[in-house]
Amino acid sequence: MAPAASVLEIVQTGDPVLRQRARPLAVEELATPRIQELIVQMRDTMRAAPGVGLAAPQIGESIQLVVIEDPPQRHGELTPEQLAQRERGEVPFHVLVNPTLVIEGDEVVEAFEGCLSFDGFVMIVPRARTVRVEALDERGEPVVTTATGWYARILQHECDHLAGVLCCDRMESRTLTTAENYARHLRSKTIDEVHALLGQPRGGSK
Ligand code: ZN
Repeated sequence: MAPAASVLEIVQTGDPVLRQRARPLAVEELATPRIQELIVQMRDTMRAAPGVGLAAPQIGESIQLVVIEDPPQRHGELTPEQLAQRERGEVPFHVLVNPTLVIEGDEVVEAFEGCLSFDGFVMIVPRARTVRVEALDERGEPVVTTATGWYARILQHECDHLAGVLCCDRMESRTLTTAENYARHLRSKTIDEVHALLGQPRGGSK
């Protein structure tokens, strides 16, 4: 267990830092003890939350720094069918600095996602199925990642944070739901079933 002292406060939507465009990190600054310590603190904060990604603006630092980890322990509440449907597998811990994201192909997939800075709610967000990210790792070495499915969703969500964009900006707004109601009514449903339950009432206007 990480010491509690290394867990940082996660800022919530409405904090202006989440709406700023984060600045790139110079390689020299990345190497400083302050930033290297911040990476460890962000990792511990993500794990404690728990979450599968955390961007520096979420802990109040407007810099282009992201940590990601999707370990099997986080998949416990999903059935093998749901994991396959989401194309979700293990992603080891890693760090992305100054990432640039390019959407590959034109496939779009819908899934419920949440955000540690939009605590207590989840929402359906359409995302590109496949993306390519170029970035630096924590040592300043270039890395290129091509990802499909859930990992591509995490990458899009975290890179959005660095541009001041939150998942609620991209959501299907009628699907916004408390985490409690998601668990009660929607967790076992397919996306089509969710749209049937929450979509526009028959005869309603857009
Ligand atoms: Zn988020």
